[in-house]
Amino acid sequence: MGSIETPSLPPRGPPVGISALVVGAGVAGLLCALELWRQGIDVQIIERSPSRNTSGDGFSISYNIIRSFRNWPYMAKKNEEIAFHPYLAWHNNKGERVTEPVKLEISESNDLSAEDKEGPSKQIYRHSRPNFHLMLETQLEMIGMKVQYGKRALRYIDADAKQKKNASVELDTGEIMEADVIIAADGVGGHSTKATLGREVPARSTGHAIYRAAFPIEIVLADPELAERFKLLPDGSPVAELWIGKGIAATFGRTQTEMGWSLRHKASQTSAESWSKYIPPQRVIDDTTSKIEGWPEYANRVILMTPQDKLLNFELVWRDPQPIWTSKSGRIVQIGDAAHTFLPSSGNGANQAMEDAISLAKCLAIAGKDNIREATKHRFERVSCLQKVGIINQATGYGQKDNDNQASGDFTPIPKYVKALMAPWVVKHDPEQYAAEQFHEALAALQNGTSFQNTNIPKGHVYEPWNFEDLLKLVEDGGEIELDGNWYN
Ligand SMILES: Cc1cc2nc3c(=O)[nH]c(=O)nc-3n(C[C@H](O)[C@H](O)[C@H](O)COP(=O)(O)OP(=O)(O)OC[C@H]3O[C@@H](n4cnc5c(N)ncnc54)[C@H](O)[C@@H]3O)c2cc1C
Repeated sequence: MGSIETPSLPPRGPPVGISALVVGAGVAGLLCALELWRQGIDVQIIERSPSRNTSGDGFSISYNIIRSFRNWPYMAKKNEEIAFHPYLAWHNNKGERVTEPVKLEISESNDLSAEDKEGPSKQIYRHSRPNFHLMLETQLEMIGMKVQYGKRALRYIDADAKQKKNASVELDTGEIMEADVIIAADGVGGHSTKATLGREVPARSTGHAIYRAAFPIEIVLADPELAERFKLLPDGSPVAELWIGKGIAATFGRTQTEMGWSLRHKASQTSAESWSKYIPPQRVIDDTTSKIEGWPEYANRVILMTPQDKLLNFELVWRDPQPIWTSKSGRIVQIGDAAHTFLPSSGNGANQAMEDAISLAKCLAIAGKDNIREATKHRFERVSCLQKVGIINQATGYGQKDNDNQASGDFTPIPKYVKALMAPWVVKHDPEQYAAEQFHEALAALQNGTSFQNTNIPKGHVYEPWNFEDLLKLVEDGGEIELDGNWYN
């Protein structure tokens, strides 16, 4: 575990007499265990991997999550140490820079409250997933809780009030673990939808996959031409490069410690929705970059430097939004990727997973275990909005023209669908406060059959059911997707 500089812990809420079992120690599960503990709930957390899984490269996290670390002094400090704030610069298929680097930050800073203005940075935080995960797990150990590794959930079994049976999970060893509330945080491909929807939700390929890798920067710095090409900005800030060409979406970026790159391509037999299936770097050249006109040789050098155990060929799959995240009894609840799939182009998979965690812990503390079904209802529309923007970004190449050999002036520094992901309604949201303020109102509306309007979505937006194929068809037919309501404020 990492060094523990700030040992103070948040005050724990009074015991609420609820036991919870979190299944899956990804970022959603770990933060959920922490927040449940803080809210006075008894928690255990299990994970199928035999030990901490250190694979993965990076993800983005924004102020809506970082602000919650105000309750966790160790994480508030550690997060600032391990995060970085990238600038964004667009490039064409030849790797030529076509926009100057700009900071990625919340657009309407005038609209912030005094507390918001003083809090952590409003810029996007990029994280190495392994480092962020380690921070959460270190915090968990500081409260005296350990992830129970090597425990794989096979089946979720709903509570049965008549038979006075708690909800439970059956492990692959045959062991049954039960609790008042079971939280399915087991990511994509978990088995909990059988308990919530009565069936598995089929994953459909988007037809694309993404090569992705991160590895120590020293490997790249040993090549002087690459060291110069991928140097940091004069103030030490990293630049996230997005390369867009005909059918190409690639990223390159380095930090003080790591080199990361990714390349979207047509899904193939070697791609899989897995964070642990690696492929040899030469395959990227043979199957993909050798066929891209103008693709620079130095980019292939970076690809070939990637260590064998760091390169994933992650298939981008889609599952339509499911509004129900709880079992019939309400005692099995899904959070994170187990409840909703995000494409990387949404920049929100980790953010929304952790919002779920914070929100659920608060709802359980204020509403008790008998009203859990209602606790997740105010999250669905918000998540659905961000899923949608991710699909539009993937389908439109982030709204940039996807012709080859684009020049300066052809690209927008921050295109509108990227801006939508950083809008105040996304970034300023406080999931704990929202749960505290809205839960009783939402519950009363449900009980009285009156309507309840969420305010954690774009102002004026009215949710209409949608699916992946229809949305893609709209984009393919050249239709401009109008987002109803105000998505930019
Ligand atoms: C090892 C790993 C590396 C990743 N790397 C990246 C990355 O580089 N960039 C990125 O954007 N996203 C990455 N992700 C996905 C990203 O973390 C999630 O999309 C997002 O943060 C939501 O988190 P989550 O906790 O819901 O899901 P996840 O982070 O996927 O966590 C789910 C956890 O549940 C465990 N689990 C699954 N099934 C069972 C079971 N039956 N019983 C018990 N435990 C189970 C998994 O092992 C995993 O630890 C990675 C995920 C993993 C697991």
